[in-house]
Amino acid sequence: MVIDLRSDTVTQPTAAMLEAMMHAKVGDDVFGEDPTVNQLEEKCAQLLGMDGAMFCPSGTMTNQIGIKVLTQAYDEVICYKGSHIYKYEGGGLAGNSNVSVRLLNGDRGRLSVTEIESNINNSKDAHQAHTSVVALENTVVREAGSFYTLDQIKLVSEFARSKNLKMHLDGARLFNALTETKDNGAEYGKYFDTISICLSKGLGAPVGSILAFKKEFELKARRMRKAFGGGMRQAGFLAAAGIYALDNHIHRLKEDHKKAKALGDALKNSSWVKSVMPADTNIVLFEVASSLTPEKVLTKLNEHHIKALPFSQTEIRLVTHLDFTDDMLNKAINTFKKISF
Ligand SMILES: *Cc1c(COP(=O)(O)O)cnc(C)c1O
Repeated sequence: MVIDLRSDTVTQPTAAMLEAMMHAKVGDDVFGEDPTVNQLEEKCAQLLGMDGAMFCPSGTMTNQIGIKVLTQAYDEVICYKGSHIYKYEGGGLAGNSNVSVRLLNGDRGRLSVTEIESNINNSKDAHQAHTSVVALENTVVREAGSFYTLDQIKLVSEFARSKNLKMHLDGARLFNALTETKDNGAEYGKYFDTISICLSKGLGAPVGSILAFKKEFELKARRMRKAFGGGMRQAGFLAAAGIYALDNHIHRLKEDHKKAKALGDALKNSSWVKSVMPADTNIVLFEVASSLTPEKVLTKLNEHHIKALPFSQTEIRLVTHLDFTDDMLNKAINTFKKISF
């Protein structure tokens, strides 16, 4: 048995999900004729309180299109310094949107009005890039899945709009955040112009992300998806997995969160661990003891059939998911107790 905790993207589709995919009614989605894609897009628009939504192959594409439709070349985007759009999308913002970024520290990645306010450029000064977007991430992957409440988001959004800034959300793990806050996802539409969510993370679909948008951005978003090469044909087979995931896998995310907390607690008590960030959702991030390196620890974990991800010079990341069972949790915790260096 291999216990793969590198990411919540490693899951296999369940038998029931595959069954739903097999029976999907499909058509050519570039012509807008795939009924299952259309159903998924309508469902997501509703879930997020947005005017429309668009199915894409990846969350990187939905983020990149989101920023593209909200900016012009030479603009500046305000985001957390460890945000996925900046750090993990291959420099896409520079290449795709020709924008600069203003990187903020945040409170475990959560941006405040005060910090944003002091980082908006003077739009009348020709020296300075034109600040046009605030991009938030919820949950924040680089900060062990910390999350915003809707009240925090409302404050940021109302302030940003008072400064004529657009709002983008990287909600790759938005449903993990909603599981903890019990906020209604449909309220999110009030506070953002574009929202990206991933179906292939904790929700367990094999492929797919959604960009939800306000009506005014739909045409440009669909044109950009074509330009980026993301227009798919009989994509309904994949969309069916997404619909199945939204209907069946949201309610169980709390199980992943419980398991992440249990892993975090076990790590806190291990001699080879220096510190553990609070596991607020399904991500555990810890620093190895000063005498060790992530590589050394990962080699030892591998010997015990546990896979994890090196996350910096000193940190290792674990992510819980649909295929991480109670049995695996017990085995992982026992291994953490057992190993020494
Ligand atoms: C995974 C992830 C994405 C999108 O990743 P893809 O692998 O391109 O689907 C975007 N934002 C965050 C925070 C993520 O964790």
